Amino acid sequence: MPKCLLIIDPLPTNRIRLSAVFEAAQYDVFAIDSPHDTARFEHPDPDLIVLGINGDQPVKALAAVKSSGIAPDIPVFCLDTDASPLRRLQALRNGARDMLARSVPDALLLARLRSLIREGDAERECERRRVTATSFGFAEAMTPFGTPARVACVMAADAPMIVPDILSSAMSHRLEILTLEDALRGASTGIEPDAYLIVPGSDEDALETLLPELRVRSHSRHAPVMVLHQADQPTQAIRALNLGASDIAADTASGDELAIRIDEMLRRKRLRDTLRQTNEQSYRLAVTDPLTGLYNRRYAEAYLADLLMREVDQNRGYVMMLVDLDHFKVINDEHGHPVGDKVLCEVAARLRDNLRAGDLVSRHGGEEFLVVLPDADTLEGEMTAERLRAAIDEKPIALETGEEINVTASIGVGFSQNHEKPEVAARTGTFDVAEMTSPPSLQRLFDAADAALYRAKNAGRNRVEFSVS
Ligand code: GH3
Ligand code: MG
Ligand code: MG
Repeated sequence: MPKCLLIIDPLPTNRIRLSAVFEAAQYDVFAIDSPHDTARFEHPDPDLIVLGINGDQPVKALAAVKSSGIAPDIPVFCLDTDASPLRRLQALRNGARDMLARSVPDALLLARLRSLIREGDAERECERRRVTATSFGFAEAMTPFGTPARVACVMAADAPMIVPDILSSAMSHRLEILTLEDALRGASTGIEPDAYLIVPGSDEDALETLLPELRVRSHSRHAPVMVLHQADQPTQAIRALNLGASDIAADTASGDELAIRIDEMLRRKRLRDTLRQTNEQSYRLAVTDPLTGLYNRRYAEAYLADLLMREVDQNRGYVMMLVDLDHFKVINDEHGHPVGDKVLCEVAARLRDNLRAGDLVSRHGGEEFLVVLPDADTLEGEMTAERLRAAIDEKPIALETGEEINVTASIGVGFSQNHEKPEVAARTGTFDVAEMTSPPSLQRLFDAADAALYRAKNAGRNRVEFSVS
C-alpha cells in the first residue's frame, strides 16, 4: 500500500510543487492550507505530515497542528524558506522531527521523507506490540538508561575537532571519541555505545564502509546512528540516509540541536529495547514450566522436530529418556502437595546438573521428565541414564522442617535405530534388522522409551531399562 502524506501549506504554489514531487515518487498525497481545514477528514490518517512554514514562527505553526486534533504520533516534517540553525532548533524543540530548507534538492527531500516514515512506522509498530504485550501481562517497564547513556562520536581524520566540544557542553550523556577503526572494533575496545554520531569530514568512503558495518556488528547493531554532514554537501546527507542513518544534521547545527536529536534517537532506541526484552520474556514464559524452570512439553516437541530433521540430514544418533518418579503419589499423600512440588524442583535441579549443556531436559507431565541427548551413542546413553537414576536416589531430599524424603525414579531409554548396537538389541529383544533402513520416527523412539519405562516399573522401580526403536 502506498504511503500517505499530508501537506499543510498556506501557499498554493508550494502545495502544487510538493504534491508533484511526492506523487512522482508514488506517494498518496493530499494537501490542505491549514491544519484546521476540515478537508483532511476526507482522507485516512497520513504516515507523515509535511508542514510548510513560510517565514512564520515554527512554534506557532507546530502548535496549530497540535491543537487541530491530528494524531500526535504522526511525525511532522517542516519545510522552511529559512531553515536557519536557530529556526531548526525551535522546530525540534516543539515536536517537529526535522526541518529542511525548501531549497534542498528533491533527492534529499525524498531521502529524508523515507527515513522519517521508516522510523515512524517502526515506532508505531513498537507501540502496538507494547500495548498487546501489556494486555497479556508480559510488558516490561521501560528501562531508563543507566544515566547517562554512552554516545560515541566517530571522527574521520579531517573531521572538525570542535564537534565533540560543542556536543559535550550541550548534552548530559557520556561522550566517547572514537576513530573509524575503534568504532568497528567495538567490543575489543570495551565500548558498546547507545548511539553513534559519525563525523565523516570530507572522507568520501567513511560512510560507505562504516554505516553498513555498524548495522551488522553485535556491539552496534541496535544503536541508532546520526551523521553530521557538511551543510553544502547534500549528496553526503542523501548517502547517509540511504545507507540507513537514523538521523542527519548539518555541520552548522548547534550543540543544543545535536543534543535534542540524540535524545530523540535514544528515546526510540529505548522503546525498541523494551520491546525486545518483552519479546524475550514472553518467549521464555511460553516455553518454560513455571514450577521447575525446565523447558515445557511445547518446547520439547519443537526441539525434537528440529532434531529429527538434523538426524535425517546427517544420520546422527540420539537418545531419548523418560524419567518417572516412583510412587510419587505417596509423597503427596503423606507430606502434602507443596512438599511434592519441592521434590519436583529438586529432582529437576539434579537432572539439570547431571546433563551436558547441549542436552535437553523438559518437564513432560506431572512427575515425568523427558531427556534427550543429541549426538550420543548407546554407551553414553546407558551411562547418563544410570548417572541420573543415581543422582535422584543417592541423597534424600531435605525439607525446611529438617525432615528428609527418599525419592527414586525409573528411567526408560530409547535409542534411535541408527545406533547399531547388537548388545543392546540382544538385551531388549526389540531390535528389528528389517527396520534398519527406514527413517527414524519421533513417535517410535518415544514409544520405545515409554515401553522401557513400563518394564522398569514392572521390574521393581528405581532402575533403567532400554529399547531400540
Ligand atoms: P509410579 O511409581 O507407578 O509412577 O507411581 P506414581 O505415584 O508416581 O504415579 P501416579 O501416576 O499414580 O501419580 C503421579 C502423581 O503425581 C499424581 C499427581 O497428583 C502428582 N502430581 C502431578 N503433578 C504434580 C505437581 O505439579 N505437583 C505435585 N505435588 N504433584 C503432582
Ligand atoms: Mg510416577
Ligand atoms: Mg507418571
